[in-house]
Amino acid sequence: MAYTNSSLVNCTVKSPNHSGKRTHSIDRITPHCVVGQLSAESIGSCFTSTSRQASCNYGIGKDGRVCLIVDEANRSWCSSSNENDQRAVTIECASDTTEPYEMNDAVYNKLVALCVDICKRNGKSKLLWFGDKSKSLTYSPKSGEMVLTVHRWFANKSCPGNWLYSRLGGLAATVTSKLGGSTVTDSAETTAGASKATNSNFPATPFTVKVLISDLNIRKGAGMNYAATGKYTGKGVFTISEVENGWGKLKSGAGWIYLENPNYCTVQGKVTTSTNTTLVKKSVDEIAKEVISGKWGNGDARKKALSAAGYDYNAIQKKVNELLK
Ligand SMILES: [Zn+2]
Repeated sequence: MAYTNSSLVNCTVKSPNHSGKRTHSIDRITPHCVVGQLSAESIGSCFTSTSRQASCNYGIGKDGRVCLIVDEANRSWCSSSNENDQRAVTIECASDTTEPYEMNDAVYNKLVALCVDICKRNGKSKLLWFGDKSKSLTYSPKSGEMVLTVHRWFANKSCPGNWLYSRLGGLAATVTSKLGGSTVTDSAETTAGASKATNSNFPATPFTVKVLISDLNIRKGAGMNYAATGKYTGKGVFTISEVENGWGKLKSGAGWIYLENPNYCTVQGKVTTSTNTTLVKKSVDEIAKEVISGKWGNGDARKKALSAAGYDYNAIQKKVNELLK
């Protein structure tokens, strides 16, 4: 397939920093945060000096205008990975200067449009986001598939920033639906057509989830439309006290996390209530004394109450008899 450039380009500021013709056809898109709310022209001018030793194929300015910097036919110097940039269209997007490197709506919407355009011109009908480095880098895209990759997998940096990173599932789904592909969910596994299903059928609350990634966003409400708190659970086991639309409320009160992506977390079992936990911790000796003091009633009622609370009636009764001797 012959390489072309996007018709969405508003200005051109060519960079001398590239390796010439690609050695691999385009089957990846790598969006970056340029770390500054810059115009399209300013993003272009970041890469005009040969001493900069960096470039990208496109820049999207803060007003949503697109700058062509390195022809799509050429391998840009953008993602700290020769292997990635030989096959990726790289896009620098205007962003805030600090984490989460937020991008405005004009930039995000143009990124969607540019991804759709890149896919179309390169014969792709699906944009995939796996949310997992090794899976993404070892995956061989089928014909018609384009894969999203991120700079943070190749260098010790946050790029494209947590703001965009947390939206890449949505970006892939939106682009794919605009391409007329099958409707996909946020779940990378579903998008990939892999065997693992979405997490669903949650147990009664409270239950625990094991978070598998270090950067799972905590949001202020149950949905992507709620603001991120800027905090992450980190990897580990967490208790969920409430579920709404596939989102779980953290028992700690820190906020809500997305539960449906099996790449992000594994749903575990129901939590034993704290009352029971406390009672079970009491020794046979203590309970026997409570029985003698009359706290557990008599006869069958006592037997039922002790069993219901999780105690071994016979062991308690034996102790009671010993104590009464
Ligand atoms: Zn980057």
